[in-house]
Amino acid sequence: MPDRYPIRRALRKLLRPIVRRSYQPPKSIEPSDLPGPSLFLLAHPDDEVFCSGLIRYVREQGQPAHIACFTRGEGGTRGSYPDDVDLAAVREKEMEQSAEILGASSLTFLGYEDPETNDDRLESPQFDPLQLQEQLTNLMAKHDISLLVSHGSSGEYWHPAHVTLHEEAKRLAENHRDLSFWTMNAWVPDHPLDRVLNQDDIPTLKLDASSYEEERIQSLLAHQSQLEVFETFVEGSVRDYIDQTHLEAYRQVKP
Ligand SMILES: [Zn+2]
Repeated sequence: MPDRYPIRRALRKLLRPIVRRSYQPPKSIEPSDLPGPSLFLLAHPDDEVFCSGLIRYVREQGQPAHIACFTRGEGGTRGSYPDDVDLAAVREKEMEQSAEILGASSLTFLGYEDPETNDDRLESPQFDPLQLQEQLTNLMAKHDISLLVSHGSSGEYWHPAHVTLHEEAKRLAENHRDLSFWTMNAWVPDHPLDRVLNQDDIPTLKLDASSYEEERIQSLLAHQSQLEVFETFVEGSVRDYIDQTHLEAYRQVKP
């Protein structure tokens, strides 16, 4: 995969030992850490798998958990779906099913196109930042959102759409004084699936999602077209993926 962020990556690597010096074991999340209704802002259908434990936890505390998807994921892998099947429609349905399994309070597709590429490049959608900020501001007002959860600072594995959305989420949090902002997949030492972590995000909160294992598996299985991606991450089964990611770590960028 070509490197979209060569300078940023090199700089991060250089500074990493200094950044990680501030690492303290994150504390377990408690109900009082939730400021109120939350919005999970995700690049693609299936990115909720990275935070499905937290979505369940939020719902279990009786708080609303809304999901917004930047794209419908039409640029992703097709699984066993033939070329003439509309992948966007397939993935929209998969996402609806997953959101229902997790008990999400609402699901919104923001309407941006996930670019298809002919090679293994990953791409970010074309978008107007002002328009996106306005859409998100309206969505937050509609649902009275006080916690925004989105991608980490290196887009987990430097996926350009994840990196872009992280930056847009950060801007949103900067422009809304009372909005809390957390990022997913923060780095923790000795994590069994280190390759999906944001290597420079130092976590402040952790969640042991073991008790939500069945919902997390069913939510991932809803994404039939994408299962091979998760199986490749873990070099094993969907169950292995869920097992290896039962520890969710979050960075409270803005508590
Ligand atoms: Zn994604």
